Amino acid sequence: MKLLRALVLPALWVLPLPSFAADAVVTRLQDKIAQDPYPEYLASTLVNEVGPRFAGSDGYEHAVVWALQKLDAAGLKNVHAEPVILPRWVRGATSVELVTSGVDSLPLNAVALGGSVGTDNYGIEADVVRVESLEQLRQLTVAQVRGRVVFIDWRMPRSRDGSGYGQGYPVRAFGPAEAGRRGAAAILIRSLSTAGDDAPHTGGTQYGDAPKIPALALSPQAADRLSAVVRAGGATVRIKLFTRELGAVYSSQVVAEVPGKTDEVVLLGAHLDSWDITPGADDDAAGVAIVTGAARAIMKYGKKPLRTIRIVLYANEEFGVSGGRAYAEAHAAELDRHVLAMEADVGSAPVWRIGSKLPEQAEPLRSALLAALAPLGVADGPRDDGGGTDIGPLVRAGVPALAPLQDTSRYFDVHHAATDTLDHLDRAGLRQNVAVYATAAWIAANWPGPLGRLPAGEAH
Ligand SMILES: [Zn+2]
Repeated sequence: MKLLRALVLPALWVLPLPSFAADAVVTRLQDKIAQDPYPEYLASTLVNEVGPRFAGSDGYEHAVVWALQKLDAAGLKNVHAEPVILPRWVRGATSVELVTSGVDSLPLNAVALGGSVGTDNYGIEADVVRVESLEQLRQLTVAQVRGRVVFIDWRMPRSRDGSGYGQGYPVRAFGPAEAGRRGAAAILIRSLSTAGDDAPHTGGTQYGDAPKIPALALSPQAADRLSAVVRAGGATVRIKLFTRELGAVYSSQVVAEVPGKTDEVVLLGAHLDSWDITPGADDDAAGVAIVTGAARAIMKYGKKPLRTIRIVLYANEEFGVSGGRAYAEAHAAELDRHVLAMEADVGSAPVWRIGSKLPEQAEPLRSALLAALAPLGVADGPRDDGGGTDIGPLVRAGVPALAPLQDTSRYFDVHHAATDTLDHLDRAGLRQNVAVYATAAWIAANWPGPLGRLPAGEAH
């Protein structure tokens, strides 16, 4: 291999750009990662030793200690915690019942949406008004909604490119505000789930300036049941929900590095927190394992890179992006030295294409990356995709981004639900992700020239 490179190299000198596809380090990284069980090990210890780790909870603090210890054990350098302030919201007891005769009732499996207000001690009992989409709800008048429980019975389609969730996200994010503005007593949504099971899926919602009403997601089977009863002539539900909002807490997020020869930074992010109802194997123990696995592989099987590769395990992606904002603020003075950012937050299924948001100047890097990622089965993707939520503040500040796009066909079966357990993890997919991140990080960290900046302030 060395001899071959020696023969090939003189020919490359006449080319303006390096070909990382033939790079011996890239080949070694991809070969070694394909046989390395480390990412599965790491994800499983986060799930088994820590479990649910919602921002502001004791579980999250355990996750911080876990991360400091594991990143250090992985051989990474400059392992440290950085301060972040986290909101504190507690779910409390939850019950939704379908009233079947004057007194009898049938429990419906439901969870509060993140940040939902609760009911009083007596709860709510009201008739249900069912719509099949957010648009239908927007067409209802106050007279049609006031005092009733809105039920958005929208079914999320399965998709490989995440577009089903893209369509469904507004139902969860804005449905409660639309219902509240029309005087609803509460809102139930069919979970943004592609499974047909009895597991409800939570997620954040935004009341904005609308009146705050209790907002819950029904499991797919509970939604089927309620839907059938409403369509057969109408339904009444009883809801009790005892959520509480507590004061903010001081906490941390965790940073580590593969030191480079310069102080320029290639950033790989994932989020350490999970929703409170789930051990969060795919979301986002998988992402933590992908970025940590990639950095560890470069440390172990690569060489000292030109630029520093920095891992950030963000606090609170799920409930307000506290960590993403805190990092961008704390590192504002060095953001112009952040040359590229990537975030792993779509589970463990394989990457099938690479989205990107890169300046013109980085076009040759993009071509080199595509050639080096082809052996991993990765194709070209959309050029206006700046990736995940936590690196959003960096992208808006002008930092170029890559978005390795994972197959989401099964991801939304378990996303934000108690069913997001280790048995759902795609072990081969996890290794392929590690190889993709390691390859991209290695090439970007060693690219022999500036990558340029995005126009600052642009939404991504
Ligand atoms: Zn996530």
